[in-house]
Amino acid sequence: MSKNLTKREVDYSKWYNELVVKADLAENSAVRGCMVIKPYGYAIWEKMQAELDRMFKETGHENAYFPLFVPKSLFEAEEKNAEGFAKECAVVTHYRLQNDPDNPGKLRVDPSAKLEEELVVRPTSEAIIWSTFKGWIQSYRDLPLLINQWANVVRWEMRTRLFLRTAEFLWQEGHTAHTTKKEALSEAMLMQKVYAEFAETFMAMPVIKGSKSESERFAGADETYTIEALMQDGKALQAGTSHFLGQNFAKAFDVKYTSKEGKQEYVWATSWGVSTRLIGGLIMTHSDDFGLVLPPRLAPIQVVIVPIYKGDDQLAEISSKVDGFVKEFRQQGVSVKFDDRDTYRPGAKFAEYELKGVPVRIAIGKRDLENNTVEVARRDTLVKQTVSQDDVVDFVANLLVEIQDNMFDKAVSFRKEHTTEVNTFEEFKEVIKTKGGFVSAHWDGTSETEDRIKDLTKATIRCIPINNKIEEGACVFTGKKSIQRVLFAKAY
Ligand code: AMP
Repeated sequence: MSKNLTKREVDYSKWYNELVVKADLAENSAVRGCMVIKPYGYAIWEKMQAELDRMFKETGHENAYFPLFVPKSLFEAEEKNAEGFAKECAVVTHYRLQNDPDNPGKLRVDPSAKLEEELVVRPTSEAIIWSTFKGWIQSYRDLPLLINQWANVVRWEMRTRLFLRTAEFLWQEGHTAHTTKKEALSEAMLMQKVYAEFAETFMAMPVIKGSKSESERFAGADETYTIEALMQDGKALQAGTSHFLGQNFAKAFDVKYTSKEGKQEYVWATSWGVSTRLIGGLIMTHSDDFGLVLPPRLAPIQVVIVPIYKGDDQLAEISSKVDGFVKEFRQQGVSVKFDDRDTYRPGAKFAEYELKGVPVRIAIGKRDLENNTVEVARRDTLVKQTVSQDDVVDFVANLLVEIQDNMFDKAVSFRKEHTTEVNTFEEFKEVIKTKGGFVSAHWDGTSETEDRIKDLTKATIRCIPINNKIEEGACVFTGKKSIQRVLFAKAY
């Protein structure tokens, strides 16, 4: 099988699609827009889940699980949310199939098994969760309620792409309830911060924290906070969102609590989510023309050891050395694989681990046995060096930290080089067309201007950065007064 990838500069999106399949992360399925996540891709997701789950629990959240199906009457209760998601909903209308009398061997929907009430396959779970919260919340003592669920959701997306936008995706969704607006707002911002910390510390993917303009806001939210990342082709990726839902769902589902003063009050809400899209972001932030480049903190295999040998005796000698390294690596919490398969040659193994983005490869052969050395190759820079066997475990443990830092720094530099301040619409169009990346420009704050700019350039407002400095200026499109710059980009 040829593992050669299309080069990024030739066709970035082809490179991406090929890489996802060739690196064994995922493949398309029989259902349009739905993917099969393969073991290697799922192992990355499990690592992401483990870290995020720990972070959610450390900030006081608990996991629960709610059903996949939402009765239509519940789904439509919060009107804005329902209207926003209606066009993407899969709906269950029947609950039984029967033999088709006109087509032997085929099945058809049993017309007598029509549901009395249609069921929406959740595109997001606010409706089912808030209808449940009503029974859980009576008094201020029941609050805050801090719930997360790991689940799949379905949004009938028209233009799909593996990981980045699929019709069914895996995610987590946090849903919280609070006594005050202030507390709910700080929860929404806290989770944005948690997401940013995860993206930067574990994915080595720098993100901009900001809030969404009204037209990019989640349906049913009063405010949407986002983390936005920049991919290597200059397009932005909304990597995670955290919503302040005001009292919209509390009112729709009549969720009130008795305050300390004995008054009945509506509760305040947030919801927040990140999905398997993060894997797409991880790939597009770091990988190169040779394959994946995975940050050590999320790599399913951090170190692979490949023996180069002739005959069983040499392999036995190498193996006994390697067994010692493997033990020491595991003691240090490093995940290591000794690939002693005799069905592949070393060259084929090297190519495979390069494609799969394993951060460090150690090769050990006959000459290394004589010289007490090994060859250590790092995936991010492709640099190789000879290291003494006596130091190799500590050397590699340090190298993993260095690789993680180097990948982050490289991505930060890329973002810096691809963030441009512009002051005229001519410049704006030129930068979006030729260089891409984030464009920082004044905006008059209206949806009309945002829509016009989108029609003309395909660029949208990715976010209004938090802690934005107030800077008097003129809108890049209308010339009207503006008080701050916002970030525009073409986005996935
Ligand atoms: P939302 O509930 O719309 O705020 O979505 C939460 C997060 O899920 C978004 O910030 C995206 O990162 C991700 N997401 C949204 N739609 C999709 C999709 N079709 N496929 C994969 N991830 C998605």
